[in-house]
Amino acid sequence: MRSLETLSFDNSYARLPEACYSKLNPTPFAEPPYLVSFNAAAAKLIDLDPEQAKRPEFAGVFGGSLLVPGMEPLAMLYSGHQFGVYVPQLGDGRAILLGTVRNERGETWDLHLKGAGLTPFSREGDGRAVLRSTIREYLCSEAMHGLGIPTTRALCLVGSDNKVYREQIETGAMLVRMAPSHVRFGSFEIFYYRKQHEQLTILADYVIANNFAHLVDAPDKYARFFSEVVERTAKLIAQWQAVGWAHGVMNTDNMSIHGITLDYGPFGFMDDYDPGFICNHSDHNGRYAFNQQPYIGLWNLSCLAQALLPLAEKEELKAALDRYTPLCEGRYMELMRAKCGLIEAKEEDVSLIQDLLVLMHLHHVDYTIFFRSLGLFQTGSASLNEPLRDFFLDREAFDKWARRYRCRLQAEGSRDNDRLVRMNRVNPKYVLRNYLAQTAIEKAQQKDFSEIDRLLTLLQNPYSDQPGMDAYAYPPPNWGKHLSVSCSS
Ligand code: AMP
Ligand code: MG
Repeated sequence: MRSLETLSFDNSYARLPEACYSKLNPTPFAEPPYLVSFNAAAAKLIDLDPEQAKRPEFAGVFGGSLLVPGMEPLAMLYSGHQFGVYVPQLGDGRAILLGTVRNERGETWDLHLKGAGLTPFSREGDGRAVLRSTIREYLCSEAMHGLGIPTTRALCLVGSDNKVYREQIETGAMLVRMAPSHVRFGSFEIFYYRKQHEQLTILADYVIANNFAHLVDAPDKYARFFSEVVERTAKLIAQWQAVGWAHGVMNTDNMSIHGITLDYGPFGFMDDYDPGFICNHSDHNGRYAFNQQPYIGLWNLSCLAQALLPLAEKEELKAALDRYTPLCEGRYMELMRAKCGLIEAKEEDVSLIQDLLVLMHLHHVDYTIFFRSLGLFQTGSASLNEPLRDFFLDREAFDKWARRYRCRLQAEGSRDNDRLVRMNRVNPKYVLRNYLAQTAIEKAQQKDFSEIDRLLTLLQNPYSDQPGMDAYAYPPPNWGKHLSVSCSS
């Protein structure tokens, strides 16, 4: 177990050409930093002794006012397509890469401090993040991890009474997030559009050497790297769709080359099933609506493919892109079959699942609660499925679907008890509904951080019944149904 001083930071990104970043230290808050929440599960990934969080220096180090040996802070440069439009320069406008920690298992984790103050890439922003948005990212990234969805992790949240001006006056906070790297599609796009092909090659070689080491000696390593990004992204988005989660701002600068969920903004888990769910209040045209995500994934990958044109054959990149849709759809169907407790794959499953979703949409059925409850489906007698029928206003419509489902289950000899166990492993009981996050935020704004820790613990095990926590699995109260989440964070 390591202390803050023995984390042994390094920063290989700082050895790349200076065109890739700008070196600078975090800007401390004007008011003293204090620890809001600490995540022992993420600390374990870097062998950090959880007792370290009790030291007063901890909030200093992860609140931007103290550096520890080996840190070489820098703001990363990137560009990206925002809402379909190319923006020639973005970059870390309020986040700073502190450095990399290699754990005893040889894995490396980049630690990024979000809300760390102005950088040369801040544009018109203030370099800060508000407590509200850092709580949302902190909780959601750990919730996604708990669900088994690839994501950045969150080590801790440090607050301060420093005022930050948004629609209202709020307070600032810093979030430490961890990832194999914070390289995005946009990190490549910037060098392509600037015609800096040498930097493009250096960056690609860096990423391959550090995170795709099995490709280092492959003759077509850049095309194979891209192919892996395609594969990981397709599977990631299939997982988002299966769990009913929308990212909200799928710009190419928010797409990780590791195929992990990155940059949590106005994201949302849907309550009632609605394929057109738009979680980002500013997304007026629904570009990033829930049911658009698979297509946007492909669109974003085609931007990355274009940026890699100087490094790989067009035909190879195109062939990799062509794998995306079958991969994403195939994975989605696997996940949905599992959510329905089906083991064998049959062609009719596509319509069975699609018809269920249409019914759920029509009858405003809660996505998470229904799938969790579907585990209790009884193949023996229709009358035992009364609680499931009650999700639907038109009971006969459900009965009709249930008869097909029953036949399908019987055809593969499905046993109710076994199926329930399997389904509970893939249909979460608890997800981070907006109103749950909102409750934690409102308490935290009054300096009560207990709800953050309660939700963190709960969401790290979303598939298990947790005693005394049933209320967290209920549908949202009326006030929490359509909370609007803006991009302002
Ligand atoms: P996002 O939509 O959060 O992914 O951010 C898009 C771009 O805006 C990135 O370059 C961010 O670093 C930058 N940005 C967002 N908020 C701020 C802020 N408050 N200050 C400076 N830059 C920001
Ligand atoms: Mg971003």
